[in-house]
Amino acid sequence: MKKKHYKPSDSALKQTRTTEEAPSSLNPRLAQQRRKRASGTKSVEELVDGILQQDRIALAQAITLVESSNPKHQETAQSVIEACLPHSGNALRIGVTGTPGVGKSTFIESLGQYIIEQGHRPAILAIDPSSQLSKGSILGDKTRMEKLSQDNAAFIRPSPTGGSLGGVARKTRESILLCEAAKYDVIIIETVGVGQSEISVHAMVDFFLLLILPGAGDELQGIKRGIVEMADLIAVNKADAERIKLAKQAKRAYTNALHLFPPKASQWIPPVHTCSALEQAGLSEIWASVQAFETQTKANGFFNQQRQQQALDWFRESISQQLGRIFYEHPAVQKQLPEMETAILEGRLSSFQAAGRLLSLFVNY
Ligand code: GDP
Repeated sequence: MKKKHYKPSDSALKQTRTTEEAPSSLNPRLAQQRRKRASGTKSVEELVDGILQQDRIALAQAITLVESSNPKHQETAQSVIEACLPHSGNALRIGVTGTPGVGKSTFIESLGQYIIEQGHRPAILAIDPSSQLSKGSILGDKTRMEKLSQDNAAFIRPSPTGGSLGGVARKTRESILLCEAAKYDVIIIETVGVGQSEISVHAMVDFFLLLILPGAGDELQGIKRGIVEMADLIAVNKADAERIKLAKQAKRAYTNALHLFPPKASQWIPPVHTCSALEQAGLSEIWASVQAFETQTKANGFFNQQRQQQALDWFRESISQQLGRIFYEHPAVQKQLPEMETAILEGRLSSFQAAGRLLSLFVNY
């Protein structure tokens, strides 16, 4: 019997059932599945009810499903997200970045405690693309944020491990929605100041906070100009003991440098503060700035515009990711790929030509 050909349209349908990003609204078995138990844990309904009732265990279990690469878990996760979506979007999303050792964990722990005193419920998530190698270097160490993790008003989740930055970013985005449905009203996303991860985080937050060290200039601290440009607030951390003077100098230098950048679409002028995460100093000024940003950008419409733009960008990004996966999983592509690579290496085809051939093979299959 002739082997059944695997058409791209088939694969798209198949993806709907199995892919990580599959919208469950396309899944005809959704209602049935809502009642079904997911791998011995809670059903979709139990998870959603738990999340909406602020049950941290249900939230943690749902995030575990979001992070799982098991297609069944993904199916459940997508159903949970869909049910939580109407209850999400109400938090203030803050990205925190800075080079390793600048004090991000210490800062988030102190700021988290401070805002809990102000009546907030912070959820702390992380994006760490290096965690594949280091098995979760940020937030992964249990001794970090010890006090905050013991506080019932806070929820802390280390960076998901494994997968590409795009995959990790998707998991974090979906986790944000779940935390918001569980009524965490400030979501803090930590990322290491290396490579692309800040750009991913910037694309999912309302406010972007850059931590720097006293004294040394950008280059010495390994901070890229683009990151400074993205910041809505710069905090010179470790402004304590003998570093206070240096911290004040850094504050002046960065305030001057920021004036040279073009005005932001938000019309917000990023302030530079000094703080000591260790001594919990300077946090009220920083939080006041965050609140001022929220008030200003909600009044001038930027807050909502940015959220809408982020949603559209993520929609396009999701399509690219899913298309890429469907393409590479296609049997004809898998068969021809090594040959094309050899042809490129031997100079028989240009990369562009080889890509064209493989794509037309896929499209016309
Ligand atoms: P991360 O790698 O950016 O998350 O940095 P950590 O929060 O792990 O901090 C790195 C080191 O700097 C730790 O030894 C902290 O105790 C220390 N540290 C963090 N914040 C401060 C601060 O405000 N002042 C001082 N003196 N040390 C700090």
